[in-house]
Amino acid sequence: MSDSNKLIAAETIAAQALGLEDEATGAIIRPVHVSTTFARHPDYELPDGRSYMRDHGPTQAHAESIVCRLEGGVDALTFSSGMAACTAPFHALNKGDHALVSDTIYHGVLSWLHEFAESRGISYQLFAAGDLDALKNGLESRDAALVWLETPANPSWAVTDIRACCDLAHQYGALVAVDSTAATPVHTQPIALGADIVCHSATKFLNGHTDVVAGVLVTANDSAYWQRIRKHRLLGGAVLSSMDAHLLIRGMRTLYLRVRQQSQSALQIAEFLQAHNAVETVLYPGLQSHPGHDIAVRQMQDGFGGMLSFLIPGSKTEVIQCLSKAKVFKRATSLGGVESLMEHRKSSESDVTRTPDNLIRMSTGIERVDDLIADLDQMLS
Ligand code: PLP
Repeated sequence: MSDSNKLIAAETIAAQALGLEDEATGAIIRPVHVSTTFARHPDYELPDGRSYMRDHGPTQAHAESIVCRLEGGVDALTFSSGMAACTAPFHALNKGDHALVSDTIYHGVLSWLHEFAESRGISYQLFAAGDLDALKNGLESRDAALVWLETPANPSWAVTDIRACCDLAHQYGALVAVDSTAATPVHTQPIALGADIVCHSATKFLNGHTDVVAGVLVTANDSAYWQRIRKHRLLGGAVLSSMDAHLLIRGMRTLYLRVRQQSQSALQIAEFLQAHNAVETVLYPGLQSHPGHDIAVRQMQDGFGGMLSFLIPGSKTEVIQCLSKAKVFKRATSLGGVESLMEHRKSSESDVTRTPDNLIRMSTGIERVDDLIADLDQMLS
């Protein structure tokens, strides 16, 4: 596959891992480079420009190139976790910088800001997810360097209009970073909608097999700010291991098949739950009843993602009793893997959570959807 051929479809890029072969042997799967250091020629030149693995490993670079192409960016960086990727844009801000952060995002990022932003000289203000007036007020009241969004966002799957937020933020000189973990490049390309940086917990759908913890950032521009993020990774040291980079590349080969199936099944399950009399509310952007449905229809292609939440009447104890009956679903946190998971979400979050006690978060896998629906039916009966 010619890397310069921009017409090649994303599915093909993912399936062939960019089509890169091992130059020495022709192997279709590239070798996993585990060496931590790279020998210099006698003239002290480096054969491939690399001197040390923490700076830039070849297997990591391959994974980065794939995500970069799928997201339509100019450069990407892998990290040792999604949290390392999500917090890097904050670490790279300057002392005294201000950030505007959507109030509905992965709880780990909110907790990090709560614990560490102030001591690192960064101030931040939360604004109601997707509320453009609230974002405008924030931008008018104080110069902001960064706007942080997540869409669809944990755990209500609130949808934010990326293009509208980027247009607004850019008018005020702020950059926009979007955590697109739940959307994946299959459903949304934030950079095409104006985002400056896209973030993924690659632990989730990108890898898709629940066996790697990883994060990725993709940038729309090779700016001084991006170089600071790169330097933060180099000196902070939160790099992805080569074996994990290899597993991530392997996982991404089936990204489009997996995610489309997961989204289709999630929609069927959401419709089943909505019609079930033991269910109070279903939160899924693919349902017309979801507040973000109209934006999701405009902004997402090919489905609405594999994540949904639902509320059942009752206390935490009753929710946990319901979860205890699961036979096919695994009772576990995390998301995006080929196996379906369910959890009492509030138990996984920190003290700053606003998640209701009766909310169950579901990550839809690729099992036969009838098995998943039958399991839910017997749990709820
Ligand atoms: N962003 C989102 C949307 C997530 O759901 C998660 C983890 O659940 C993270 C970031 C953090 O990723 P990791 O667990 O890989 O550090």
